[in-house]
Amino acid sequence: MANSDAALLEKIESLKKRRNAIFLVHNYQLGEVQDIADFTGDSLELSQKAAKTNADVIVFCGVQFMAETASILCPDKIVLLPDMHAGCPMADMITAERLREKKKEHPRAKVVCYVNSSAEVKAESDVCCTSANAVRIVEKLTGTEEIIFVPDQYLGNYVSSQTGREMILWPGYCPSHVRIQPQDITRLKAEYPQAKVVVHPECRPEVTALANAVLSTGGMIRFARETDAEEIIIGTEIGILHRLRKENPGKKFIPASEQAICPTMKLITLENVLWSLENMVHQVKIPEIIRLRAKAAVDKMLEG
Ligand code: SF4
Repeated sequence: MANSDAALLEKIESLKKRRNAIFLVHNYQLGEVQDIADFTGDSLELSQKAAKTNADVIVFCGVQFMAETASILCPDKIVLLPDMHAGCPMADMITAERLREKKKEHPRAKVVCYVNSSAEVKAESDVCCTSANAVRIVEKLTGTEEIIFVPDQYLGNYVSSQTGREMILWPGYCPSHVRIQPQDITRLKAEYPQAKVVVHPECRPEVTALANAVLSTGGMIRFARETDAEEIIIGTEIGILHRLRKENPGKKFIPASEQAICPTMKLITLENVLWSLENMVHQVKIPEIIRLRAKAAVDKMLEG
């Protein structure tokens, strides 16, 4: 490690102690950011961690909606997002206003909202879900014929195929996951015939159809630990490879596509984590009137 890197890490560590901060880091973050994490995980694991922390400051190394979820759950804590431009293009594909219009068209429908959405959209929803629990959440929704699922059409489509429930799907998608093509998987399966294929449910159905397992990133971490397979083809954002390789040095992880990169996830760097803690910016805070309604949808998910 270069001296400048060591000095930077030392500054971050000492400021973190002084501020009584915790670093929550998503599995898609840059490797060096994952390495300073108190906890690395998927959206569900990170929200559970945020809900329980005793820290005064949560530095969220992820994207806007994740920091918002932490703030929804912990209104008394300071939640920092080190780069205010770290948004999620999929979350931006729906607004609260457009969702209200859709609800008017289907007044009896329940709204299931993927956690990759703004606090305002969550506030218009009945229950949230993540890719780890979406199937279970929809299975538990009884007493309603109609379900509106927002904003990811591919996760919604996957949940529909697993639960047998037809849903009204919002036409959103993740620009990083749709870059993974079925031909990427077939080519890699021919090259690594012994490999197992795991993909994220944000992938297109033609891709999930070719997988041995369809899992959230947290599910992929567990799968990699437990499988006897020595070669695993990974169909999700390539940031996860850092953790998979670190935790499983004896196994080979092959990205389904090198193109599956989320540019906004990569905006968080060690430098802006330090800057964020020094200046206590950018603070993510949700207006109370929205927060309480969004929290009801998030709580309903966490109860399940
Ligand atoms: S990987 Fe896709 S869904 Fe996740 S933050 Fe990036 S754009 Fe959003």
